[in-house]
Amino acid sequence: MKALVAVKRVVDANVKVRIKSDNSGVDLTNVKMSINPFCEIAVEEAVRLKEKGVVSEIVVVSVGAKEAQEQLRSSMALGADRAILVETNDEIGALEVAKVLKGIVAEEKPELVLLGKQAIDDDSNQVGQMLSALMGSGQATFASQINIEGDKAQVTREIDGGLQTIELSLPAVITSDLRLNEPRYVKLPDIMKARKKQLDVKSPADYGVATGTKLKTIKVENPPERKAGVQVSSVDELVEKLKNEAKVI
Ligand code: AMP
Repeated sequence: MKALVAVKRVVDANVKVRIKSDNSGVDLTNVKMSINPFCEIAVEEAVRLKEKGVVSEIVVVSVGAKEAQEQLRSSMALGADRAILVETNDEIGALEVAKVLKGIVAEEKPELVLLGKQAIDDDSNQVGQMLSALMGSGQATFASQINIEGDKAQVTREIDGGLQTIELSLPAVITSDLRLNEPRYVKLPDIMKARKKQLDVKSPADYGVATGTKLKTIKVENPPERKAGVQVSSVDELVEKLKNEAKVI
């Protein structure tokens, strides 16, 4: 069984992002970039399924600038077998990414398509759902457990107030939640091995997709600064302030 995993290059989760002075976006100058954490979990899951003998080949794909090769190499160091970079310097929206991935699915014919539940840069949480609609396949989003039996996948999903287990016919799209697994630390020999693995470079046009997203970012702002708290001397004073100042009771 072949698994296709989509990985996005994003600002590292530990970096405090800076907004550009003209509020047009996030300043990426000299900022550490990494694999989107949910995509790393998706790669780890594919590698575990390969170790169990369920998956035989893992192909990772990223859509974006040339530098996304770094995240593809990291994914191959984790255990993916080969990579495809769909290179573009244009801003690309969720629908365009989903259309490119659909083109790759048509070419590669994976039984299992794994994505992160969302990318932590724009928190859009759309590509997996759009891709499954374009493929006409089932989808299981927010997966916290995946079991594959023959041509079926049983997926436990994290939903409000509990867990839901559903069964999907493969091929299907599954998006990973935080508790699906904890990605392994990559060892130096694996990083060296990953350098020799196959990485093909394509363009969105190869899949008939025009870039130039239909979405335009108008303004990016920092969240409002939190005001300092005040200490109250009695419960009566607290109630009075909640009633008359905060007006929440
Ligand atoms: P999003 O819908 O943008 O929050 O992203 C959800 C998931 O879609 C990510 O975790 C990735 O698996 C995949 N994805 C989004 N954008 C890209 C991209 N440019 N290249 C590859 N995969 C992507």
